[in-house]
Amino acid sequence: MANETADQYTVTDRTTLKRYAKRAEYDRKVVHAILDEAFVCHIGFVADGQPFVIPTGFARDNEQLYFHGSVGSRMLRALSSGADICVTVTLLDGLVLARSQFNTDMNYRCVLVFGKAREVTDSEEKAAALLKLTEHIIPGRTQHARAASDKELSQTAVLAIDLTEVSAKVRMGNTNDDEEDYSIPVWAGVVPLKLTPGVPIPDPRLDSALENAIPEYVLPYHRPVEMAP
Ligand SMILES: Cc1cc2nc3c(=O)[nH]c(=O)nc-3n(C[C@H](O)[C@H](O)[C@H](O)COP(=O)(O)OP(=O)(O)OC[C@H]3O[C@@H](n4cnc5c(N)ncnc54)[C@H](O)[C@@H]3O)c2cc1C
Repeated sequence: MANETADQYTVTDRTTLKRYAKRAEYDRKVVHAILDEAFVCHIGFVADGQPFVIPTGFARDNEQLYFHGSVGSRMLRALSSGADICVTVTLLDGLVLARSQFNTDMNYRCVLVFGKAREVTDSEEKAAALLKLTEHIIPGRTQHARAASDKELSQTAVLAIDLTEVSAKVRMGNTNDDEEDYSIPVWAGVVPLKLTPGVPIPDPRLDSALENAIPEYVLPYHRPVEMAP
């Protein structure tokens, strides 16, 4: 179990893992690496008594996560009302094929964040957050793609949540069979899973002069994979 130091998130009742507590991680570097590799988070919130869990893009800036969307989005309106929210991020790293069905598992890295979101109203912070959101998808893109117009900015809401109440859970490695099962004559092992970019497909309306001008930040595209097994 992690200690409460500056390098670690403070463990709270809500972030204390109960099942497989040895897989708990509160180290900021571990949490940041998972958040920076992932594209999608799921935000859980309750609006008018109805629970929702909505997948959405996000970006981390130091100890904050940013989200964005239409000002008319129910999710963003609900989040900016100060409701409690829960954000989860999951990276799937492998299928763990044990000798028993019971011990069949998955390798994964997961982060869970509790807190309240705030709407970003400061124009400088909002602009910086939108840059982060684009750069999170593809670093380098903001140097080339057109920046948002004032009209687009007015149609876009940006929200932030502090990374204060945070846990990670990480399962890596081999099968964890019961000792007596190791003699069962069945294949066992791990099938690694990775998100692999394909060959970029030019837009049908791409200027023909640009057809062979794929930027170096597009090809080869890769995610940070410091922790992947
Ligand atoms: C990879 C990914 C990235 C995304 N990034 C963003 C983002 O950055 N910003 C953003 O605003 N949205 C993003 N979305 C879309 C997001 O999931 C929601 O669809 C959107 O925010 C809903 O806004 P809304 O207020 O119109 O929907 P709501 O009014 O909240 O939804 C109405 C109903 O539509 C259905 N619905 C809504 N979204 C989904 C969904 N994703 N899948 C299935 N059913 C759904 C549900 O039944 C819901 O009750 C992303 C989705 C994915 C999968």
